[in-house]
Amino acid sequence: MKPETAAIHLSNQVNDLHQPVIQPITLSTTYLHGENSLIYGRFANPNRTSLERVMAALEHGKDAAAFSSGNTAGMAVFQCLEQGAHLIAPLDMYHGLKKQLLEVFRDNLSVSFVDMTQTEQVRAAIKPETRLIWIESPSNPLIQITNIPLIAQIAREAKIRVVCDNTFATPILQNPLDLGVDLVMHSATKYIGGHSDVLAGILVTKETDEFWQSIRNVQAIGGAVPSPLDCYLLCRSIKTLAYRIKGHCANAQGLAEYLQQHPAVEKVYYPGLPTDPGHVLAGKLMRGFGGMITFLVKGGAKESDRFVQSLRYFSNATSLGGVESLIERRAHVEGPDSKSPENLIRMSVGLENIEDLMEDLKAGLETLR
Ligand SMILES: *Cc1c(COP(=O)(O)O)cnc(C)c1O
Repeated sequence: MKPETAAIHLSNQVNDLHQPVIQPITLSTTYLHGENSLIYGRFANPNRTSLERVMAALEHGKDAAAFSSGNTAGMAVFQCLEQGAHLIAPLDMYHGLKKQLLEVFRDNLSVSFVDMTQTEQVRAAIKPETRLIWIESPSNPLIQITNIPLIAQIAREAKIRVVCDNTFATPILQNPLDLGVDLVMHSATKYIGGHSDVLAGILVTKETDEFWQSIRNVQAIGGAVPSPLDCYLLCRSIKTLAYRIKGHCANAQGLAEYLQQHPAVEKVYYPGLPTDPGHVLAGKLMRGFGGMITFLVKGGAKESDRFVQSLRYFSNATSLGGVESLIERRAHVEGPDSKSPENLIRMSVGLENIEDLMEDLKAGLETLR
């Protein structure tokens, strides 16, 4: 099955006497004891099973596990590492997961943050107790592209597990398991959900090995699972994922090109631009360049805030991947420990008409002159 077909058919498993075309939401937390019956909502739920099944198929994995957020999906992986394990993570890593490693796992794990675009730095950071390499590509917020197959090869030689946060690319644009990684992570809150109304996370595995069993154990016993309604909404969203991603990519490409030639813009980070350092690599690893653009405007914090707040169609809010365009100044969102420059703007390009979006940006950029 091709992704568009899998997205529609594998997300919908009807097992009901009345034969509805669309799978109903099963709210029951418990099940009659029987030969093939489910047991309890924390262990499994039909809507969650459909979500896990379609995500495993879209990511070319053997199995998937859904969580109540992207962060709890990531946390399940960290929880399965032994006490004292070392891991290598990107310098440009999703802020919330970086915080988790530095604060929640402070006493249990040690971490080296490296520039993942410099593959030799990854190799140099490997220690005898390194158990995991965490990749995020494209990365947040600098939209950097990591050489996933090369890092996977280095990790394989050293017998280290590799996980890729594939939130920005989605399985429509990139399948990290095919590039050699062991696990894929998604914040389903973003493009998978696509409408900024569900918080969820997913892990997809290449092999149903012992490590995967321990992740399933964290899911079932830890209990950070999404609700049946959340799973239903995610399955509904996944049916249009491929078409939404096409629209996000087309709009983002147009806007990135527009921004790049604008005199009030200092720099644009978007792998779809031929001048971007990740352009060639992204062309090899991905089937499109995605809907996220980061750029530097000419001005400081005050001018950048004024620009962001002047826009009509770009809502000044954090998060990404919804049908509506969002824009934010990262340093403002990340707080005092942020490493982002004051004039760094991150934009999640939505599915509005590109002419409206361009006009909006044009008027907003005038405030910087
Ligand atoms: C949002 C995000 C996360 C965390 O997901 P939540 O659903 O907010 O917990 C992790 N990684 C990336 C790249 C994200 O954008």
